[in-house]
Amino acid sequence: MPRLRGAKDHDGARRVSWRITRIYLIIGSVWILFSDQVTEFFVTDTSAFRVVSIAKGWAYVAVTAFVLYSLIKASLEKTAQAQSEVIRGYEELEAANEKLAMANADLLSHQEQLRHLALHDDLTGLPNRMALYEELEVLLSNPHVQGALLFLDVDNFKYINDSMGHAIGDELLSGIAKRLIERLTGNWQLFRLGGDEYVLLVKDCDKEEILDFALSLHEAMSDPFELTTAVVQVSACTGIAFYPEHGSDSETLVKHADIAMYRAKGKGSNSFVVFDESMKSAVGERLLIDQALRGALKHQELSVLYQPQYEIETQRICGFEALLRWNSPELGSIPPDRFIPLAEQSGLIIPIGTWVLQQACQFIKGLHERGFADLRVSVNVSVVQMRQPDFVDRVLQILKDTKLDPTYLEIEITESMLMESDDRIESKIRDLKSRGIGIALDDFGTGYSSLDYLRKLPITTLKIDKDFIDDLDHPQTGILVAGVIGVGKVMGMYVLAEGVETSEQLKFLASEGCHRFQGYLYSKPIPAHEALSKLEASLVRHQ
Ligand code: C2E
Ligand code: MG
Ligand code: MG
Repeated sequence: MPRLRGAKDHDGARRVSWRITRIYLIIGSVWILFSDQVTEFFVTDTSAFRVVSIAKGWAYVAVTAFVLYSLIKASLEKTAQAQSEVIRGYEELEAANEKLAMANADLLSHQEQLRHLALHDDLTGLPNRMALYEELEVLLSNPHVQGALLFLDVDNFKYINDSMGHAIGDELLSGIAKRLIERLTGNWQLFRLGGDEYVLLVKDCDKEEILDFALSLHEAMSDPFELTTAVVQVSACTGIAFYPEHGSDSETLVKHADIAMYRAKGKGSNSFVVFDESMKSAVGERLLIDQALRGALKHQELSVLYQPQYEIETQRICGFEALLRWNSPELGSIPPDRFIPLAEQSGLIIPIGTWVLQQACQFIKGLHERGFADLRVSVNVSVVQMRQPDFVDRVLQILKDTKLDPTYLEIEITESMLMESDDRIESKIRDLKSRGIGIALDDFGTGYSSLDYLRKLPITTLKIDKDFIDDLDHPQTGILVAGVIGVGKVMGMYVLAEGVETSEQLKFLASEGCHRFQGYLYSKPIPAHEALSKLEASLVRHQ
């Protein structure tokens, strides 16, 4: 467009110049041809004619010079004006260019900042999951490079976070990151994947060194973390996958290290495990169970069995423990120890646990209505249920719906639940007790067995774990069990022994004054209708 305008202006200037030249030629020719004749007409004298001709010549020159002067001046002025416009335009262009360069630099630095944000974790400043995958892409594109990916997960972090608050949790995560960074040497890189998960990546390092390094990481974690308002002791579990051996693409490598980490968790806190192909089937099985469990309640695959609990002195049934069963059409019968932890992880334990409570309350109410008026039912509850803010209301609603007096229900809690040191859980336990509901401390002896719980919480029944009963042959265990029975009795609790299988065990418990027991010796967990027959038979026996 500017080129076209330039060409047009050029044509116009040529036309105007040509017109002026033509007018000048015409006027000049007319002047030359006719001025002398006009002069001759008025001036006849020869000498006067010469003077007039000279004056005429000078006048012509003066007029021509003036016209030339005006034209050149106008044209030069126009040129100067155009030139200054060009200079101004150029300056403006230069300023605009400078601005553009500045805006471009700004854009680049914003892009850089955005990229940094996208690739780093806010809390610890460490490179994040996206950065890890970018790094792995580059690393794994070279088939000759070797190394390892360590997947580290802090043990029980969720409990620390839930019970001590998120501020402490965040401070701890930053502290862990700092401590891990201090350990990094040479080719090691640290990433935070989110939550309490960290990944360490290394190249060109032999396996021995990698395992030594994992050990040193765990040692580094074992020193207490001194935070602003608390001192916290933690441990971690680590899964290790070597590359290219355990995965030649990022997804597989991270997945396999994660699987190994889960296996390490299974071994207990503060352990690390190297990935092995055989672990994949276990994970597949976990997923399968998890999926099938989602439909189990809806498809009526769950049922509740009741294990009778006996008064040792009278040998009579005094209550039942409700025990959940799952019979899956695809997977067969799966024991609660295997599916309950998965139901806890997915939150499914909440509807399932509510259903068990309903079943158990209906069951015992039914027995009361058939004349077995004093029987209680014990129901196991998970910590996940206990954490629900409306847990107590839910239990009370079920009691109301089934018209069961609260004193006939006992809630079984475990020591691990109390180890969360969550005041809300403790206050729920007190609340339940204040409504008349019994509280049994299950599996006593397997956790920390803190006598403090017995003192602080309103426990009505102390359940001695089966492991101790199994081991009663050993004199030390006998002394211990006798001690626990003594402590329970002094504190005004019922003491119940779990998993009694032999009459010797029962005899020992009776001699130590244990109140109650449950176990295969008298009965396995049985369906509701069998429980009724058993009660009716025992009624006949005792008559
Ligand atoms: P638990 O509460 O300690 O239950 C006692 C377990 O010992 C039951 O296993 C019972 O069948 C078994 N048992 C009782 N007497 C004997 C015996 O003489 N010999 C042997 N070998 N075993 C005996 P079960 O039913 O497999 O339950 C395992 C665990 O699953 C329970 O341990 C409890 O922690 C959990 N559980 C069961 N039902 C539920 C439930 O409805 N909710 C929750 N949250 N957990 C449940
Ligand atoms: Mg129990
Ligand atoms: Mg138990």
